[in-house]
Amino acid sequence: SPSTRELQALDRAHHLHPFTDFKALGEEGSRIVTHAEGVYIHDSEGNRILDGMAGLWCVNLGYGRDELVDAATAQLRELPYYNNFFKTTHPPAVRLAEQLCRLAPAHINRVFFTGSGSEANDTVLRMVRRYWALKGKPEKHIVIARENAYHGSTVAGMSLGGMAPMHGQGGPCVPGIEHIRQPYWFGEGRFSQGRDQSPAAFGRACAQVLEQRIQALGEDNVAAFIAEPVQGAGGAIIPPQSYWPAVKAVLAKYDILLVADEVICGFGRLGEWFGSQYYGLEPDLMSIAKGLSSGYLPIGGVLVGDRVAETLIDEGGEFFHGFTYSGHPACAAVALRNLELMEAENVVARVRDELGPYLARRWAELGEHSIVGEARSLGLIGALELVADKASGERFARTLAAGNLCRDLCFQNGLVMRSVGDTMIISPPLVIRHEQIDELVALARRALDETARRLNT
Ligand code: PLP
Repeated sequence: SPSTRELQALDRAHHLHPFTDFKALGEEGSRIVTHAEGVYIHDSEGNRILDGMAGLWCVNLGYGRDELVDAATAQLRELPYYNNFFKTTHPPAVRLAEQLCRLAPAHINRVFFTGSGSEANDTVLRMVRRYWALKGKPEKHIVIARENAYHGSTVAGMSLGGMAPMHGQGGPCVPGIEHIRQPYWFGEGRFSQGRDQSPAAFGRACAQVLEQRIQALGEDNVAAFIAEPVQGAGGAIIPPQSYWPAVKAVLAKYDILLVADEVICGFGRLGEWFGSQYYGLEPDLMSIAKGLSSGYLPIGGVLVGDRVAETLIDEGGEFFHGFTYSGHPACAAVALRNLELMEAENVVARVRDELGPYLARRWAELGEHSIVGEARSLGLIGALELVADKASGERFARTLAAGNLCRDLCFQNGLVMRSVGDTMIISPPLVIRHEQIDELVALARRALDETARRLNT
């Protein structure tokens, strides 16, 4: 088999992989991940690395689960492919739909399958616009989303997302999408001057921004608000507790649909099956993917609340929408088995009652570090804010790229931790053990020490 160097050369020559600056890749090349077990990945040079990100926030049951592999192989032998178009379906898709609706909040009784989270959010956009058109209000079509949000890489996904660098590439975004501020207490609340700035007041102020935008656009023009319960790729933004109740009230006041993007928060990440349940939300639609199959095979979907589902079904006729791989049998079989294992192993309650609180305690210790302005976590998602000055919250100069430096040092030390600017993020597999959380915290601390030393603080 080819050597690491040969693979890296082939990679550079032929492989355009996602979110990569190929010119900057240089001689060093990509790290080649070869195998994995539990919470560890291994690379082609013999390094074992604790995967603090569960791949891309998805390998919730950890690596090397034979039960999931067996579910895939059995289904591939039985029926490797058939579609769910027109009037056909197959057992894994039907059974998975039933199980998802059992786990979802009571008013959600239908699911539309997709191949990914991006496709789920494309589907959401079409569904909310179609819903209001069927209600005789086609002008009610604008979707409000949040700055810095990530909702996927399809054209609709990136348009719903609020990432300026993505909007700047590849031509005009989908029209009729607006963005408002995220409830980012550390970055936008804590150090701003002159107002009543408790986290609770800040959370309410962010909901007020939503209301003001609705008023500016006209409530008759606004179809839906889409947000993650806890914003993931935008920086593990855990909103103040006042935020969601206030947002819920605003949406109810103006009769605007709520879409929860549960692609990261779903399937136990916050210690509930869905992040919406943690915050007491009753979304009209929820997009799902990632942890649905623990990332073993690609599958996503939209969980559709009764209000929207009944209108689409009773008044809509055929919905001209769907993907070849909507509810793919092998992917659905793996997702079903994944849900079964999560229930049998009590994964969600363990995150809520044991692992989340334990991580919170250990993670908070990193908040004492000289270059950490805040350490926050909820369930098994966490963030560290890197700062040059703890008292004022002043950041390092952008040119220092402190976050990327810290991320690279983590990787060299044997930990995957992600950087979003100077916010360091973790989202480990939900089966991580206490001693592995200790290891994660120790490795993160080592990387922080080394980052501080290199930045001469
Ligand atoms: N929504 C959220 C919140 C995500 O984090 C992601 C992916 O990171 C997506 C949607 C897109 O999912 P996918 O990459 O499966 O298309």
